[in-house]
Amino acid sequence: MEFREYGDGLMTKFVFVTGGVSSSLGKGLTASSLGRLLKSRGLKVTMCKLDPYLNVDPGTMNPGEHGEVYVTDDGGETDLDLGHYERFIDESLSKMSNTTTGSVYSNVIAKERRGDYLGKTVQVIPHITDEIKERIRRLGTLGADVVIVEIGGTVGDIEIVPFIESIRQYRRDAGRDNVCYVHLTLVPYLAPSGEQKTKPTQHSVTELRSRGIQPDIIVTRSDQPISDALKRKISLLCDVPLSAVISAVDAPSIYDIPITLHHEGLDTMVCNTLGIDLEQYPIDLSTWQEVVRRVHSTNRTLRIGVIGKYVSMPDAYLSVAESIRHAGFAVGATTKIEWLEAERVPTEIDVDRIRQLDGIVIPGGFGERGVEGMISAVRMAREFDVPILGICLGMQVMVVEFARHVLGLSDAHSTEISATTSEPVIALMAEQMDITDMGGTMRLGACPAMLEEGSRVAEMYGTSVVSERHRHRYEFNSRYRQRFEETGMRCSGTSPDGRLVEFVEIASHSFFVGTQAHPEFKSRPDRPHPLFLGLVQAASARAEGREPHIIDPSSVNASL
Ligand code: GLN
Repeated sequence: MEFREYGDGLMTKFVFVTGGVSSSLGKGLTASSLGRLLKSRGLKVTMCKLDPYLNVDPGTMNPGEHGEVYVTDDGGETDLDLGHYERFIDESLSKMSNTTTGSVYSNVIAKERRGDYLGKTVQVIPHITDEIKERIRRLGTLGADVVIVEIGGTVGDIEIVPFIESIRQYRRDAGRDNVCYVHLTLVPYLAPSGEQKTKPTQHSVTELRSRGIQPDIIVTRSDQPISDALKRKISLLCDVPLSAVISAVDAPSIYDIPITLHHEGLDTMVCNTLGIDLEQYPIDLSTWQEVVRRVHSTNRTLRIGVIGKYVSMPDAYLSVAESIRHAGFAVGATTKIEWLEAERVPTEIDVDRIRQLDGIVIPGGFGERGVEGMISAVRMAREFDVPILGICLGMQVMVVEFARHVLGLSDAHSTEISATTSEPVIALMAEQMDITDMGGTMRLGACPAMLEEGSRVAEMYGTSVVSERHRHRYEFNSRYRQRFEETGMRCSGTSPDGRLVEFVEIASHSFFVGTQAHPEFKSRPDRPHPLFLGLVQAASARAEGREPHIIDPSSVNASL
């Protein structure tokens, strides 16, 4: 294998982040935070996630079980950790940044069928491991100084073994000084004995060593800071320097984590391991410190309802929740998200409950469940002037509600839910064009849109051409467009050819905006997305009982 050299003759560096003891320790956030710290040192960083499951990508996985599907600009349907990566390192990643066991095997099997292996026996080692290593290596050729690779799952899992073997081999391939292994473990507190325990960490490191990897750095997750004595014990028993035992104690906000890890010396240790000169790459954390300052200097609370189908698993709407929070940071408000089950509207969640909210988001989704509840919620928000942002399916239900209750088309629906509706206001492109082959493919990834001059969306974005990420099959049916426009729902943004409606809004409402895209994938903690900012502004005005005014997103960005 060949490895890229960069400017000063150093090779691209690779950091592998593994986890032990338990899942859900925050490996993704630790890896992302490290990414942010290295970027704050002026290094070019890219990241990737290796997922041990057999699905080829998370696109078909149930968000209620697996969390949201994060969509990249190039249309990759990826693991939600890529959302953390993008929010923390503020770089757009591609589908290359997510590899699953399923995608590795399907490539290797396709090659085998083509005869690429020339009759050899195709095996996990070397064929699967070579494919994994090749994907990591390719990321290293794209201009990054450091590639951070997070290995999903927990050491000791059966499925993870080929990934661990690949990263073990990687140090030989890339050179000892070009690879750093970071291992994340849990240090539990046992209340009866009043002690924090290192044994799970020792076992986890033993397991990793049994696969040939000696970690360079151990990051311990705990609810209380760990003492120096405990660090010394881990250092001795796990054979890492004392300064390489990093305590990652639970943080009040995920955005505190980079600062905590920096104070613990994580980035210093990683640079030392990789031979990156700390003086050549001094850290500048000022932008991030400003983010953290804003996170902690809010002076009021806004109640934002998220009405969807998977609300019992908030990770299903992770980027939506983070986008709401980012907008809150920008206006100095803590946003309290109320997760409301769409199916419980309007029976249990009634109009009084909806009217207590300062703002509402109806996120994306697929299938029938909860759709009638979302339509009811949209009606309440429209009639009682509660600020509301509809995202993808959320925009589609806004359109259906308007058709039913304003245009008087009582049978109006999306053909996704009712194939036989007489008023298909939302339909597949093919249906709209009377094409009989209904095999609608998903519109995925970044698409440009043109915003109408003088519209609310144009004002909020501060520009007339935008690019947002998509993930849907159904579209606003343009045949109805004129009737909507005449009765007060403006199609304020379209695809550049004018055929697809990308944004709708009601000008007379305090905030009633729908988008066919997924703006939540482009919000950053220091750069809130204009649509979420607009919603939170309107929510804030509602909470204070005053008229909303639209703030210029560039002024917020400039002050951050
Ligand atoms: N189910 C709808 C469609 O396919 C909306 C998808 C979404 O909200 N991401 O068009």
